[in-house]
Amino acid sequence: MELKGCLVLAALLLPAALAFPIQDDYENSTTTTEPTEVTTQENIYESPSPTETDEEDEDIFNKILKVNKDSSQFLQEGDIVPRRSRSAINCRQCNWPQSSDGIVRIPYELDPAYEESHVKGIHDAMAEFEALTCINFVKRKAERDYLSIRSADGCWSNYGRVGGGQTVSVMKGGCMWKGVIQHELEHALGFLHEHSRSDRDKHVKIMWEYISPPDRPDFKKFENSNNLDLPYDYSSVMHYGPYTFSNTTGKATIVPIPDRSVHIGQRQGMSNLDVAKINKLYNCSRCSTILDGPSGSLRSANYPRNYSDNTNCVWLIRTRSRKVSLHFQAFQLQITKGCQGDYVKVYDGSSKSSPVLMDKTCGSKIPNGIVASSNLMLVEFTTDGAQTASGFQATFTAVRTQRRSSIHN
Ligand SMILES: [Zn+2]
Repeated sequence: MELKGCLVLAALLLPAALAFPIQDDYENSTTTTEPTEVTTQENIYESPSPTETDEEDEDIFNKILKVNKDSSQFLQEGDIVPRRSRSAINCRQCNWPQSSDGIVRIPYELDPAYEESHVKGIHDAMAEFEALTCINFVKRKAERDYLSIRSADGCWSNYGRVGGGQTVSVMKGGCMWKGVIQHELEHALGFLHEHSRSDRDKHVKIMWEYISPPDRPDFKKFENSNNLDLPYDYSSVMHYGPYTFSNTTGKATIVPIPDRSVHIGQRQGMSNLDVAKINKLYNCSRCSTILDGPSGSLRSANYPRNYSDNTNCVWLIRTRSRKVSLHFQAFQLQITKGCQGDYVKVYDGSSKSSPVLMDKTCGSKIPNGIVASSNLMLVEFTTDGAQTASGFQATFTAVRTQRRSSIHN
């Protein structure tokens, strides 16, 4: 009863303002019964690009559950720490505060037990938030509320801001995947699992017969979820995989409808809609797009008509397993000295702190093709208040990565 009361209290604590608040009849959840093989504990930073035959089906949530199977932390829905101490009356404070400059700065501390590669991995996962949203993770100075990112026993987090130092567990062994880190950070931002949305039954069918009774609360639907007027997202980094909590080998617990072949669950990182949802929940004025197909195109707004003044847009290109290759087909930007006015700039990675592949470029000469050193490339397009032009158009493809052993630099 004590546990139950605690859960009900926890369930009452999220406001409609959160993305997917918990409903108030939450039942006892259990530890996972995931009956799967032992995972190999890979580290994304030692092998930043999965090979083409890599575990595409090994979605984020599978990884999380495997690791959390041995966790002593009590968890709901597989990886969420129940809230224990917050007034249910008013949870406006569950979101992290926004500064007057529009940036939401979230202080964090890192576990000293992390090695350099882990720190880099966590920073890389955070950098995408900074590039694509107004969320900035900043090293804690003396702030009262902060994230304590620790290598505890599993991959888990609270919903939203709890107050004081709150743990986000990113265990060294099994959670060091960009998508997993981003998943847990998104919980801390106030996001629940995508399949918990009030409208989920229009998009997925929950196969209750393959879910053991103790696990069924993990599939609860939150009738009051704030869906932010954005579409259901099968490819969300917050979506369970198809076999999550299945009690029967080979039987899916979540089936997309009407097209059951739609892929759900992934571990590449935030989806375009994940980013849009963060930007909406936190009132970020950001122009950002994730392009995660094997190939595709991008162009300045209105192209081939003139682009607008005073804009700043970024495209994160994230192909699978290969290097991103970018080719411009058209390029027509206002010319200024040093391209300080309107410009395109390209980074070798997923953030503006990544190395620069093509520095600020303007004018009408079509730039040469660019190849990134990995499957990530960030393209930035900035315009000032003077003059416009038709802008640019480019295509990207994934080019084959050389074998690691043949790379000498
Ligand atoms: Zn989760």
